[in-house]
Order: sequence, then C-alpha cells, then structure tokens
Amino acid sequence: MASLSESAAELNPAQQEVLDLLGATRDERPRFDAVLRHELQRALEDGLEPMLTLLDARTDAKPGDTMFISKYALGQVLGCERKYEFEERQPFEWKVPIARGTIAHKAIELSIHWRREIEPLTLVDEALGRRAEGIDPLADWLQTVSETERAELRGSVNDLLVKFLECFPRLKPAWYPSTETPLRVEVHDRFVLSGRVDLSLGVADGSLAGKVLIDLKTGNFSPQHREDLRFYALLDAIRLGTPPRRLATYYLDQGRFHVEDVTEDLLFSTVARVVDATERMLVLATGQRDPHTAPGPACRWCPVLNECDDGQRHLRTEDDDTW
Ligand code: SF4
Repeated sequence: MASLSESAAELNPAQQEVLDLLGATRDERPRFDAVLRHELQRALEDGLEPMLTLLDARTDAKPGDTMFISKYALGQVLGCERKYEFEERQPFEWKVPIARGTIAHKAIELSIHWRREIEPLTLVDEALGRRAEGIDPLADWLQTVSETERAELRGSVNDLLVKFLECFPRLKPAWYPSTETPLRVEVHDRFVLSGRVDLSLGVADGSLAGKVLIDLKTGNFSPQHREDLRFYALLDAIRLGTPPRRLATYYLDQGRFHVEDVTEDLLFSTVARVVDATERMLVLATGQRDPHTAPGPACRWCPVLNECDDGQRHLRTEDDDTW
C-alpha cells in the first residue's frame, strides 16, 4: 500500500497538513494484542448483562426486541436527559441539515473514483441522483422534496464538497479510502451498537494498526466529537481485532484537525461510557425516575426551553454575566 505520508506535488498548506497528520511510518504505528477484541467484547457483555432485565421492563418493550445504540443517543443522554427524552419521542424526518452530510459523503466517494476532471457540482448532482434511486427513506424524501429544499441541499452539499477538495489531497485508491463505512457490534443478541464513519483511510497490517477514522464537521470543536470517534474506534476494534491507529475530527470551515491516537485505555473507557449511557437510557425508558436536566450552551436552541425552568434560569444568568 502506498504510504499516506508519501509526498505529493502541488499541495496547499492545508492539504500538506492532512498528509502530515494522517501519515505514519511503520515504526510509528502501534501493535495491538489479538486478545483485545475479545476483552472489549467481554467488557461490553459484562457491563450490559445487568441491563437485560431493564430492557424487558421498558414501557414500549416487545418480547426479545433489540435496543439500537448510536453515537448520537449516547451523546444526548450523557448531556441533558430531559432534552434526550424529548427528542427520543419525536419521529425521525429527513431534513436538509441531516441529508447534506450523507450526500456529501457520497460525492466524496465518487470523487475518489472519478476519472474525468473534477467539477464539484457535477459530483453533487451525481450523488443526489444516486441516492434518490434507492428504496430507502432518504430516497423517498429526495423524490418528494420541494424544489427550494433541493436547491438548498445542492448548495450546502456543494459547499462541503468544495471545502473537502480544497483541504484534502486527492485521495488515492491505494490509501483504502472508504466513506460512510457501516460498523456494528451485537451484544447478548439484544443490544446493537452501530454507526457510520464519514471517512476512513489506511488499513491494518496484521496486528499493526494503520487505519485513521475521520469525522468531517462544520462549526466549532466540541468534546462530543471526540467521543463520537472513540465509539467508532471501539466498534472497529471489536469487528477487526486491530483497532484504528488514529482518530481525526476535521473542521472543514477552519481547515483544522483535532487528532487523537487510539490506545487500549481509550477503548476500555469508551466501553464504560457506553455502559453508563445505556443504563441511563433504560432507566428513563422504564420510568424509574424523571430525567435530569443539564443546563448548558445547548439550552439556547433546545426545543424544550419554553417549558424548562432550569434552562431559562441558566440562559438568564449567562445573559446577565455577558452584560
Ligand atoms: S433547556 Fe437546557 S436544561 Fe432544559 S431540557 Fe433543554 S438542554 Fe436541558
């Protein structure tokens, strides 16, 4: 495999930074013990086993049904439980801000294999067309979306794609690039931990780690983004046995990375986080206690704000402090 760190001509400084941060020589890449995947799976099984009873005690439980655990739900329930519980009750609907990431990842995937000169809007239109041909809820939404929303989606995906193409070097097939990679781990046949990685580059060589998982973000840094990638690293470590080497959140608006190396401690602390969050979700789903509030910056755009005294008080204090 061609090295991620191999030099390439005509890179701008942001692209060069991507190569420098993601590339590594063999000597710099860590090795992981083959038993690690079994230890991580066992740690999840031990942590989640006491919750099998809670799973069947949920008010909406059906016998033997499965609980899906996503990075989003983990982050929400460990943030403000009241907001999490409200959002859990809302039916999922595709909207422009949700769809744009998925379409952009498709356009990035096309750009990797595109043999003609790259024109971002052509790739965006191809990606939109491909996703609209499916037989899934996103395809249904794309087929019926208003012209205004479609134009808004096209514009916002184009913005993401252009920024990606400006900041990243042209991805070579030899780097094993993969977008929207689904990951899934099942525990006790009742819990399904799943997610999709925006972009992965590199590949393990036996027990020698080599893969870098990348989340592409707009907006500012949040500690939550780091936790999201740790969750994916855990799933990939159990799936493959050799964990990813490095995790990188890339802020497209800023052309900046937040990077973290994967260690055994990081993976086991992620197991503990998953277990803790799952217990909270189940305690709330069984009605054993009311949700706690956790006032913070998210109160400003929280859909529960009008009925939440804690959130309103927090924002009043914040506004007072500002003046
Ligand atoms: S307003 Fe703030 S504290 Fe209240 S539910 Fe929303 S996020 Fe939680």
